[in-house]
Amino acid sequence: MTRACNFSAGPAALPEEVLVQAQSELLDWGHTGASVMELSHRGRDFMALAAESEQDLRDLMGIPDHYRVLFLQGGATQHFAQIPMNFAAPDQVADYIVTGAWGEKAVREAMPYVQARIAATSVDKHFTRIPPRDAWSLDPRARYVHYTPNETIHGVEFQEVPEVGDVPLIADMSSDILSRPLDVSKFGMIYAGAQKNIGASGLVVVIVRDDLLERCPDSIARIFSYAEHAAGHSLFNTPNTFGWYLASLVFKWLKREGGLAVIGERNRAKANRLYGVIDGSGFYSNPVEPSARSWMNVPFFLPRVELEAPFLAEAGAAGLIGLKGHRALGGMRASLYNAVTMESVETLVDFMTDFARRHG
Ligand SMILES: *Cc1c(COP(=O)(O)O)cnc(C)c1O
Repeated sequence: MTRACNFSAGPAALPEEVLVQAQSELLDWGHTGASVMELSHRGRDFMALAAESEQDLRDLMGIPDHYRVLFLQGGATQHFAQIPMNFAAPDQVADYIVTGAWGEKAVREAMPYVQARIAATSVDKHFTRIPPRDAWSLDPRARYVHYTPNETIHGVEFQEVPEVGDVPLIADMSSDILSRPLDVSKFGMIYAGAQKNIGASGLVVVIVRDDLLERCPDSIARIFSYAEHAAGHSLFNTPNTFGWYLASLVFKWLKREGGLAVIGERNRAKANRLYGVIDGSGFYSNPVEPSARSWMNVPFFLPRVELEAPFLAEAGAAGLIGLKGHRALGGMRASLYNAVTMESVETLVDFMTDFARRHG
């Protein structure tokens, strides 16, 4: 068996320790005589896992007591629609900051449920920067402000949490949750699909402030209501138990590694290493303004499109996978989530340097 250096954007690399543990527990989890997949979500063992995983996430992120933590389904995409269903009405306004493709999708899915205003966008700059804060036109009547701290496709990341006054700030952190320390108290809600930095697809982690849950209307189906899921401790219906279990192993792994301050420094070093090689190569390029460059997703281009196929073929032969860029942007993309090691990044930059030398 050989494990590749995996730079996939999502679903993405998981820590090897986590996979080995999941493998070892697959037939008999916690002396239950069954896989975690085969047990009731309302049984004592799974309920204990649920409680412990929530506490581990609270410890890692420093989540204050007046926030609920939910483990839901539907992907981040379903929550693009569920957010306005819960926190607004079709005749009310919500502000969206659009810095890439995911922000655009969030607007599109919200439109049936709220007047989604684009309060700022960098579409005119091909999503290569973040619109300066003083140029945003926020509406004080907005029910919330939504943004995407890390745009996975365009490789654009906010380095600070934007100041939006008293309007609740809602963040789609699908591709940067747990990548560095964060002040959760600045947010009304944070949500993230699990398949980038948490675990497997089919699970969405939601962190929501109590006062926002009071807004959830009785008129929506209960399955869509965050208040209902909070009241039922994410067991309103059958959750993705195996996905939740994998997430719980990842949280334990993050704690063992030293928490988000350590992980954040590691992620900064990995990203700096790769951007340094790209910028210094005179061969590769990354179009994003340096102050907005993502630590998690690094799109890059070769000097000629004809080089892309040989680059990917040779990378694959060298055990480097997941480097093909998103179809919307072309080029290459290396995703450097928590589970991607510095050794993998070193292998990648060695390969890139050698490829540039041979084709430059
Ligand atoms: C991957 C991703 C999504 C989409 O997640 P799904 O689980 O496919 O719905 C949404 N937002 C961001 C920022 C992402 O990276």
